[in-house]
Amino acid sequence: MTHNKALHRESNQVVIFLGPPGAGKGTQAERLAAEYNLIKISTGDILRDHVTRGTELGQQVAPILESGKLVPDDLLIALIRDQLSKRETVRVIFDGFPRTTAQAQELEMLLEQLGAPISAVPLLEVPDDILITRIVERGKSSGRNDDNEAVARHRQDIYRQQTQPLIDYYAARGHLKPINGVGSMDEVYGRLQQVMS
Ligand code: AMP
Repeated sequence: MTHNKALHRESNQVVIFLGPPGAGKGTQAERLAAEYNLIKISTGDILRDHVTRGTELGQQVAPILESGKLVPDDLLIALIRDQLSKRETVRVIFDGFPRTTAQAQELEMLLEQLGAPISAVPLLEVPDDILITRIVERGKSSGRNDDNEAVARHRQDIYRQQTQPLIDYYAARGHLKPINGVGSMDEVYGRLQQVMS
């Protein structure tokens, strides 16, 4: 039994995707998850699913998502705890979490308890004007009511104020891997593979 547990522990692996809204985190994380046999946990997707299903949480967060602001930290932390507690092995890629220093600190504690080390924090870098164009383009098919120019600009501001400090946070811990996020999906994925190997 002890032996098995040790094996499970060894295979724990955590990747955290950082980058502004529209940088392509979701798409790249999905591909990386498939290649490395990891589960992608996208907090935006989980919250949107709650909104669609009209759960209590969904009703609570719907106006926040629509405005482009961040959902309160305690709700996100509870959600992540729930996601991780379901798993025997923690092999995950986080997409869209953490987004504040408080979330990063909670995650650090939680991962320590679970014995799941962070292997890398890729940061997808894309200039602002390209981000807005990408989001508006995505809005034509995503059905997301926050994928329009006005809300996209607001989401960039929120990213700068609340999420950008995490770049220094993970750089100080030696996890940060900046990647040029401009180019085709394949080009960007190639760069990602290089920093992951
Ligand atoms: P995303 O799909 O990652 O762009 O997230 C869409 C929206 O969900 C965000 O604009 C926030 O309102 C909410 N959200 C997703 N993840 C988080 C998080 N880690 N902290 C706070 N709010 C979040």
